[in-house]
Amino acid sequence: MTPSERDLFFLPLGGTGEIGMNMNLYGHDGQWLMVDCGVTFPRPGRVVADGSVHQAGEPDIQMADPDFIVRHRNQLAGLIITHAHEDHIGAVPYLWSKLRCPVYCTRFTAEVLKKKLVEHGLLHRVKIIVPETGERLQIGTFNVQWLALTHSVPDPNALMIRTPAGNIFHTGDWKLDPEPMVGHGYRQDTFTQLATEGVRAMVCDSTNATVNGHSASEGELYEGLRHYIETAPGRVIVTCFGSNIARLLTLSHVADDTGRYMGLYGRSMVTMFQCAKRAGVWPYSAGTVDTGHLGYLPRHEVLAVATGSQGEPRTALRRLAAGTHPDFDLEPGDRVIFSARAIPGNEEAIAGLIRQLESRGVEVITAEMAIKPIHASGHPAQQELETLYRWVQPQIAIPVHGEAVHMQAHAELAKACGVSRTLTGRNGDLFMLSNTPGIQRQKVQTGRLGWEKGKLVRVV
Ligand SMILES: [Zn+2]
Ligand SMILES: [Zn+2]
Repeated sequence: MTPSERDLFFLPLGGTGEIGMNMNLYGHDGQWLMVDCGVTFPRPGRVVADGSVHQAGEPDIQMADPDFIVRHRNQLAGLIITHAHEDHIGAVPYLWSKLRCPVYCTRFTAEVLKKKLVEHGLLHRVKIIVPETGERLQIGTFNVQWLALTHSVPDPNALMIRTPAGNIFHTGDWKLDPEPMVGHGYRQDTFTQLATEGVRAMVCDSTNATVNGHSASEGELYEGLRHYIETAPGRVIVTCFGSNIARLLTLSHVADDTGRYMGLYGRSMVTMFQCAKRAGVWPYSAGTVDTGHLGYLPRHEVLAVATGSQGEPRTALRRLAAGTHPDFDLEPGDRVIFSARAIPGNEEAIAGLIRQLESRGVEVITAEMAIKPIHASGHPAQQELETLYRWVQPQIAIPVHGEAVHMQAHAELAKACGVSRTLTGRNGDLFMLSNTPGIQRQKVQTGRLGWEKGKLVRVV
């Protein structure tokens, strides 16, 4: 199945019909371009995209099976990583040896990728090309331009993929955040110019397509976070996602303004913080203290930021809740703030963690109960989707990065925005975008691989 010079193909191997393990292919004139290569963290009992149910005992780290493109590896021009979230970047160290192609990503993402490759002994084997936002590169038969958008991680990019058979606008994960706190923002004219040029298909994030309104801006959260931090009599622990550098920056401003010292707990959070500094997206020199000092400070001077908002085991937050952390013991008057929402499937683990914290007399504030926003989603709600469709005006809308219900809502919204054609499919479907558009269902066999005891295994 080699694309001809008249063909323009989209072939998702992962991430379409599910949220997680994104792996997309674009095909034209004898070549393929891969966009994103991520992992998923399935939980027992959870239904995954192919309709099967995740079984206990399966590997914790899973990714899309790249078998199709491995068999056509000589046609693979390159791999682009749109941003540094695990569902987009996480599988590169596990799968690169099968793909062996150059990897393209912007600076912050490149720092995160390098860290992963070092851990797998691959750093000097992988050619990483770091374009500037706005730049255009020719990757085989594809002319790719990196376009600045905003999301909940620094340096996210949308892609304009130009071919003689048509142009594809691939959004990656995005929101419209007028005050993103770190990194580049976005500009409306970037996207209205695409409409002038002509966009055949827009492949777009569906995560929040069922949500009304507009996502909150990172810049709006200072007030709510400050309120809950400055009114706490004792220590404050804020839990959020480690990759949300904007949130860390807001918290560091709040720490400064309320006379607290900020320390970071969690390996992934510390890694992301270091990557942000190296990539030049952390504008602050004196932001944090060594967590070893926190136990010696007066309680009202402590602001600890920790991973573990999803109730994961073996995190600092879990140990603090259990009273087994070496740095300090939580006491009545201390406060734990959840600056994150529950990922579906984690509600029970989070509820257990909250019960454990409350049993120590700790006050818990969640994003759901807060009277001012203390968390912002990184994905576009309906108003933002409408705005981007109005700006870009694609001929075809292709919802991805969602379960069936999200993609269906997204397709209906695109139609209401005047997009004449929507194509909704799932992993393994071949989307034909030139001439008469359509989908060949299940054209390619897809599946999942797991990482177990240092090697890849097929997950059935
Ligand atoms: Zn993301
Ligand atoms: Zn994502």
